[in-house]
Amino acid sequence: MPISTKVLRKTGPTEPFEVATIERRDPRADDVVIDIKAAGICHSDIHTIRNEWGEAHFPLTVGHEIAGVVEAVGDEVTEFKVGDRVGVGCMVNSCGECEQCRNGQEQDCLNGNVGTYNSPDVDGTITQGGYAQKVVVNKNFVLRIPEGIDFDVAAPLLCAGITTYVPLARWDVKEGDKVAVVGLGGLGHMGVQIAAAKGAEVTVLSRSMRKADEAKKLGADRTLATAEDPDFFKNHRGEFDFILSTISASYDLGDYLKLLKPRGVMSVVGLPPEQMGIYMRHLVGGGKVLTGSNIGGIRETQEMLDFCAKHKIGAVIEKIGVDDVDEAYDRVVEGDVRFRFVIDTETFDKHNR
Ligand code: NDP
Ligand code: ZN
Repeated sequence: MPISTKVLRKTGPTEPFEVATIERRDPRADDVVIDIKAAGICHSDIHTIRNEWGEAHFPLTVGHEIAGVVEAVGDEVTEFKVGDRVGVGCMVNSCGECEQCRNGQEQDCLNGNVGTYNSPDVDGTITQGGYAQKVVVNKNFVLRIPEGIDFDVAAPLLCAGITTYVPLARWDVKEGDKVAVVGLGGLGHMGVQIAAAKGAEVTVLSRSMRKADEAKKLGADRTLATAEDPDFFKNHRGEFDFILSTISASYDLGDYLKLLKPRGVMSVVGLPPEQMGIYMRHLVGGGKVLTGSNIGGIRETQEMLDFCAKHKIGAVIEKIGVDDVDEAYDRVVEGDVRFRFVIDTETFDKHNR
């Protein structure tokens, strides 16, 4: 029997959200049905559903920071049982056979992974995301949420957590490293906590000092405002070993490369819709590394969840109901979220739309 679920969706990029009922696929033998308790709002949801990346299929439900409880499992599922605390991130399937999948890098599946939303699914339909009451997911893409992390605090780890965990791990950020996290939104606030847990000396580069007190609570040593000093990039030249950029809109990459020490690394995770360029001299001088990073594999995502549990790290959230999502989107775009909006899915039963 297909699974009927309420979802929050848009019928076009400028339409408001509406509650609708859709059917998820009849669970297969290797599927897990999840009763969603909390769904985080990632800026990628906004880029996608406002069609800034130009690839949205409407009507569309987004959401790839999902936390909940297993409601049913297919016959072949031995890894999970009813009642388990689980999460789903940005992917719900991949080929499982290519070199990348075999190496646990499903996000780079050579045959194209199946995204949690807006992606052609194995049955030819378009996947619908986590702003919903239920979801049906292949068991290999279900994560375990450790005891001790609440669902609403855990949900954002499934995208914001893994996306910042991977570059910090890959470039071996460690005790004493001078790290800058650029942009203190959903990703940035996870990056600060994870880098601080690794013992790095963390500086937040925000446009203003508005979030400086909160940055300190997250573990940052200091905040610097990039937009308040016309000579900012000159004055802080060569200070950092590693820069993690989470900026969601276009900016001057060369400015930030200047802030790196020679041979320093800038890892970009933010995905502004526009193309951005650099002068090669900003990269060549000092032999700097400019690199990108895209979420992370399933194994790494479990590792990140366990790391966060061990270090008592969770997202700092503002909990909202299904009626509040349009307004929340505007606040995210204005940089006015502390630090992740999370939809309480219980509010599907008392919404006004
Ligand atoms: P948020 O909106 O929560 O945070 C982005 C931050 O960027 C803002 O808080 C703001 O920080 C800063 N910012 C926004 N506009 C500008 C601007 N014009 N100039 C300078 N700084 C700016 O978004 P998320 O953290 O959810 O996502 C960030 C980006 O990462 C998005 O583009 C998203 O699509 C992408 N993403 C990439 C992933 C990947 O795998 N690579 C995974 C998930 C998301 P402040 O107010 O402190 O200045
Ligand atoms: Zn995301």
